[in-house]
Amino acid sequence: MAIRVRKNGIQCPWSIYQILSWFSYIFSILVFYLQISPCYTFYTRISINLAITLSLCLVIWYLIILTISDPSDPLVIAYLTTNDSSYKKSLSESTTRHCNYCNSPVSGISTKHCLRCNRCTIKFDHHCKFVNNCVGKVNYTLFFKLIISIQIHECIMCAIILHFLITYRENYTEYYIFIFGSLLKSVLVWVLNGYLISFHLFLLKKSMTTYDYIVVKRKEKSCVNPSQNMSDTNIMY
Ligand SMILES: [Zn+2]
Ligand SMILES: [Zn+2]
Repeated sequence: MAIRVRKNGIQCPWSIYQILSWFSYIFSILVFYLQISPCYTFYTRISINLAITLSLCLVIWYLIILTISDPSDPLVIAYLTTNDSSYKKSLSESTTRHCNYCNSPVSGISTKHCLRCNRCTIKFDHHCKFVNNCVGKVNYTLFFKLIISIQIHECIMCAIILHFLITYRENYTEYYIFIFGSLLKSVLVWVLNGYLISFHLFLLKKSMTTYDYIVVKRKEKSCVNPSQNMSDTNIMY
């Protein structure tokens, strides 16, 4: 039976991380609009609603287009979809790289086969479990914009929740457990996502992909000369 190729992150099976992230955002948004926002005066409420809604829209927008993006190697797509044997031959002769999984020539060294998606991604960076899709040449900018927009959203959310907890500390009820839960989620995301942004800024400075970095670290651990071209020795993710 042929293994199904994933073209984007919407296709099933969904990742557990993807589902958890959706639910955590639904939870924090419900807490904000039902418990926090209504306690403020009219003008303050309009301002914080606007800040949260706009930043959330930005997150959702980048999340959707990153999830539905297709970072596949166009050469593999062209090779596998054509029936023209002379065109196939010319595509094969245009490169020296080949993927045994796709049984197709691939564009170059930076193309890697993702076992989770069962397809070759051009300039493969990593497979993102939160969007259930590969991140590569085609959608890396979208990925970076997504993590920046998440950071802005969580920063605003943390500030509002903290202000709320300090301002209304006299009126704590048992329902505040949800507000503390939402704060915990926002702080965790803010810290971990902040680390992710720093890591990708470091990679951009070094002109490396996440995949290159992992391979170099693995080679260093196994005491193999890290100066050799690691990408050249790894066609498969
Ligand atoms: Zn492949
Ligand atoms: Zn993948």
